[in-house]
Amino acid sequence: MAAPRVLVATRNAKKLEEMHRILREHLPAVEVLGLDDVAAFDEPVEDEPTFAGNALLKARAGVAATGVATIADDSGLCVDALNGMPGVLSARWSGPPKSDERNNELLLAQLSDVPDERRGAHFVCAVAVVLPDGRELVVEGRMEGRVIREVRGAGGFGYDVLFVADDRPGLTTAELTREDKDAISHRGRALREVAPQVAKLLAG
Ligand code: IMP
Repeated sequence: MAAPRVLVATRNAKKLEEMHRILREHLPAVEVLGLDDVAAFDEPVEDEPTFAGNALLKARAGVAATGVATIADDSGLCVDALNGMPGVLSARWSGPPKSDERNNELLLAQLSDVPDERRGAHFVCAVAVVLPDGRELVVEGRMEGRVIREVRGAGGFGYDVLFVADDRPGLTTAELTREDKDAISHRGRALREVAPQVAKLLAG
């Protein structure tokens, strides 16, 4: 019998790499496809106010276009001193075209007067799974930490160069090994929780 298949619906190459890596380890019997493995389709505008809502939009669009069970994530950084911003707007916070570098400059500027003890923040990742028969599930993972004052590190993506996780003080998440980031990250946590549930859904 052919292996069950799941489509990971993201165009963010770095995110895709993280998701593939974690899913391959935790769903070894499932064939993981990317958007380049299926016929092109229109991806939805992410206009929901929550991470879970946007993740569901993306996963539903993947299933509707391909008929293949689809996993999508929506993620972002929520900064305490900015009342949870940029949140769902994280990817496009500094305006088009999307730029991690400009987003990080904006974050530093917005927090320039904020003292160290008030620089708390967390990442959120909502992972949605939608099956062709309409079954759906959403799981959220979080990573707590704080925003530092200068960019550091060459790994990861997005705001990693400015974020120090409480679980790994002293290093930004851009300075961690891939495996170490996966072990503590919002995305790693959500995907590890979702993987056994996906295996069950695909089996029955
Ligand atoms: P999405 O593609 O709409 O989910 O946008 C996610 C955005 O949130 C990214 O473009 C980054 O700006 C930020 N982000 C999410 N996860 C991470 C992470 O693991 N490290 C750094 N930035 C992240």
